[in-house]
Amino acid sequence: MLDLKNVSVKYGNFTAIKDINIRVDKGEIVVLLGANGAGKSTTFRTISGLKTPFKGNVLLEDDLIDNKPPDKIVKQGIVQCAEDRKLFPEMSVQENMMMGAYIHRKKKNKIKQTLKEVYKLFPVLYEKRKNPAGSLSGGQQQMLAIGRALMSKPKLMLLDEPSIGLAPLIVEQMFESIKQINKEGTTILLAEQNAHAALSIADKGYVYENGNIVVEGSSKELFANE
Ligand code: ADP
Ligand code: ADP
Repeated sequence: MLDLKNVSVKYGNFTAIKDINIRVDKGEIVVLLGANGAGKSTTFRTISGLKTPFKGNVLLEDDLIDNKPPDKIVKQGIVQCAEDRKLFPEMSVQENMMMGAYIHRKKKNKIKQTLKEVYKLFPVLYEKRKNPAGSLSGGQQQMLAIGRALMSKPKLMLLDEPSIGLAPLIVEQMFESIKQINKEGTTILLAEQNAHAALSIADKGYVYENGNIVVEGSSKELFANE
């Protein structure tokens, strides 16, 4: 589904990722691992159209997307759930959810159906649908960010550090939900520092170090190397 081929990306003169090769097949959960500053977010920014590689290509289902703007990439089915969540705190939970559906705004019935599906996945969002997003707990805000991303019915969801700042019990629930979203048909690319939790749900992973991918393999292989 998604292929990064020999991708290098710079900020000014600084090369943040070097000759990266990543492949995500339809139906998979793939995880990017590595310390802070290793290049995971830069990889996400490149896939979602916020950064253009100076070398290499990004392909979505064999279509070159590395020169496309972010809104085109969303329409093609890749949606990113940002690390800092970017919710609208004054708006209600449901209003935030609806923001995610803007690319389908002419299909009212489809939106209603998707909303139902997301509420089924995260019942707490249904209970709190009329409350301001800013009143939710950290874990609930993360669920809302994921729920909003799902409203666009993505083929591929990019999740940047979904467990950041969450209590261990909530992290476990979050990964269960991610697994469930994947089972229901969304391919997932995940960045995590929490290698253990991420590998427990992933099919395969790539380990970053200073902008390079230094190890790749199935989750089983990476677990063994942990
Ligand atoms: P990670 O997501 O793995 O924490 P990043 O992709 O954010 O890593 O960062 C990779 C490297 O690029 C780091 O050295 C970081 O400081 C640098 N970097 C990230 N964003 C910028 C930016 N906007 N300008 C300059 N350097 C940046
Ligand atoms: P992330 O983990 O998402 O990469 P960071 O904490 O590294 O977040 O960076 C937060 C913001 O600061 C991002 O928008 C990133 O682009 C920017 N940034 C990170 N490193 C640098 C840097 N060395 N120079 C300039 N901007 C940077």
